[in-house]
Amino acid sequence: MSAFRPSRHGSRRPRVSFEFFPPKSAEMEASLWESVRRLEPLKPAFVSVTYGAGGSTRERTHNTVKRMVDETHLRPAAHLTCVSASCAEVDDVIRSYWAAGVRHIVALRGDPAGGLGTIYEPHPDGYQQTCDLVAGIRRIGDFEVTVSAYPEKHPEAASLDADIEALKKKVDAGATRAITQFFFDNDVYFRYLDKVRSHGIEIPILPGIVPVQNFKQTAGFARKTGASVPQWLADRFEGLEDDPATRRLVAAAVCAEQVLDLVDRGVSDLHFYTMNKADLVYAICHLVGLKPETAPAPQVAAA
Ligand code: FAD
Repeated sequence: MSAFRPSRHGSRRPRVSFEFFPPKSAEMEASLWESVRRLEPLKPAFVSVTYGAGGSTRERTHNTVKRMVDETHLRPAAHLTCVSASCAEVDDVIRSYWAAGVRHIVALRGDPAGGLGTIYEPHPDGYQQTCDLVAGIRRIGDFEVTVSAYPEKHPEAASLDADIEALKKKVDAGATRAITQFFFDNDVYFRYLDKVRSHGIEIPILPGIVPVQNFKQTAGFARKTGASVPQWLADRFEGLEDDPATRRLVAAAVCAEQVLDLVDRGVSDLHFYTMNKADLVYAICHLVGLKPETAPAPQVAAA
């Protein structure tokens, strides 16, 4: 049994960050902001807002991030991809973020315009690789740049070593943090971390945690992105297809187990893919000791 459980001792709380996606409708917008407001008092190190495939959410991502700058105490990061855009177009987006007061970008290549599984064709006048985008961002402003990392390798990479070399190029171009694709077996993450360090990469590699809100959907997404789904995880959700209440409880237990184990094993920064839903993430943060700051105790008048 592990000697250290921060949830019991209340010390060494991890830092957290939260990912959101830009809303498509007024209803989704309301639920996004409800989640943002609920998670904000946990004082995340940063929050990030994704960029739709092929840049399809350019305006919505920008508006969401800008509203976070203007109306919250959060430090938002805007995701940005190279897909289907020239360097000049991407540079305009980067400058618009700088003008809006955004100082952190999550730089990505993006999926092929033809969808996952098709061949990626860079735009002829665009950034060819993510490392080129990272360098472009750093040329434009003193942004913090975060990139992706793949503990089970990116599906297009020839090998894990080749993928880690690609990560190294992103770091050499100026990335100062990576967030991993989600995974369910923590040993996969720790083995990856050892390999990354052996390639001379020293930046923080934040584990990306996905709370399984819907097992079928998560398993389908995992298949496409090369993340493995252990049989034990499938077994835990088996038979709960028509029982959302129990599914939610199981999802919370599975995520708690994963996160507590990561923290027990020394992980100090966690990144949650919130899917714009706060409850489960809030509960997990509470378990690792993150609570909203309470109001100062009332002064007792001297007798
Ligand atoms: P890259 O690092 O660009 O790698 C892609 C492939 O190219 C790999 O096989 C890699 O080994 C290879 N490669 C990279 N650089 C080089 C190089 N210099 N030389 C040779 N080979 C190289 N997608 C979105 O559309 N919007 C988002 O907001 C978004 N957010 C994400 C956030 C996170 C944390 C993660 C993990 C993924 C996200 N994605 C997002 C998905 C991502 O766009 C896809 O996985 C895409 O297929 C790869 O882009 P990348 O920047 O993650 O990978």
